[in-house]
Amino acid sequence: MKKHILIITTGGTIAMKQNSPFGVVPNDEFVRQLKTFPMLAKIATIDVHEFANIPSPFMTPMRMLELAQLVEVKSQSYDGIVITHGTDTLEETAYMLDLILRTTKPVIFTAAMRSGSELGLDGPRNIVGAVRVAGSTRSSGKGVLVVMNDEIDAARDVVKTDSGKTDTFVSPSCGLLGIVDPDRVIYYRSPYIHEKIFTDTIDENVDLIKCVSGMDGRFVESSVARGVKAIVIEAFGRGNIPLTMVPSVESALAEGVLIVITSRTHTGRVVAEYGYKGGGAYLKKAGCIMGGDLKGPKMRLKLMALFGKFDDVERIREYLISEQNSLGKVRT
Ligand code: ASP
Repeated sequence: MKKHILIITTGGTIAMKQNSPFGVVPNDEFVRQLKTFPMLAKIATIDVHEFANIPSPFMTPMRMLELAQLVEVKSQSYDGIVITHGTDTLEETAYMLDLILRTTKPVIFTAAMRSGSELGLDGPRNIVGAVRVAGSTRSSGKGVLVVMNDEIDAARDVVKTDSGKTDTFVSPSCGLLGIVDPDRVIYYRSPYIHEKIFTDTIDENVDLIKCVSGMDGRFVESSVARGVKAIVIEAFGRGNIPLTMVPSVESALAEGVLIVITSRTHTGRVVAEYGYKGGGAYLKKAGCIMGGDLKGPKMRLKLMALFGKFDDVERIREYLISEQNSLGKVRT
């Protein structure tokens, strides 16, 4: 029997066309095209729900929460959900939903790098692949997945690695979960780490600051002056920051701001290794939390979910520390 799949559209290049002289912009044909796409009708019974029609740089954590709430409700009536999204922030929205959704039904993000006006457009193939993955019973319980370019990736692992290529979505640390072949959907493995933070609210009062050489503390100070609850620092390498940034980090900690250290490298964990002033071991001793292998943009969203759920710095600190100690365990 054909699976019943809901496609939720949010916008992005997959729903855009070239419109001179404005460039590539959203248009309103996409939903109608999906409803009448013959190849989709052959593989599943499709319904389409338009959540938004925005470029994904316009996506916000609050809209991600609203999208998650919609998916939670709709998933009760469907075998699987496909979400079309812009590629620019797709990995963030997919991760937020992965963290907070309770449903174990397949939830699959897909997108396109090429608009509907370009040669060799990738959108239709990606949508067909995503619907096939959403209809596979083996996709249940794997968390939110991303299907692009015939590959299946876990939301926590995947990143957009190239600004123009169609094979841009890659999981640099862990590799893909599976592939979409012409005759079947194949899984090689399940996600290694699967975090869950069930919450109905988030707190957007979290900043992300990326380290560059010679940086001082002005961004940290500005965040603290704005009253943030937490700052994620994308530090160098194993989790080290410039000496000139240390005084403002220490004052932020003294004011009760949670500081989480991540690495600006593409892969790898932060570790309390270097003991010099500004090194990871020094920062940990000063009260910063080492953020493991999670990269800055996703750690920022995770803290928004944690503050939405607990709104208690000490509880969140303990949560993050115990999580680091149980790295690799499935948390639900
Ligand atoms: N700027 C577009 C977006 O993220 C890029 C894309 O979808 O590929 O909405």
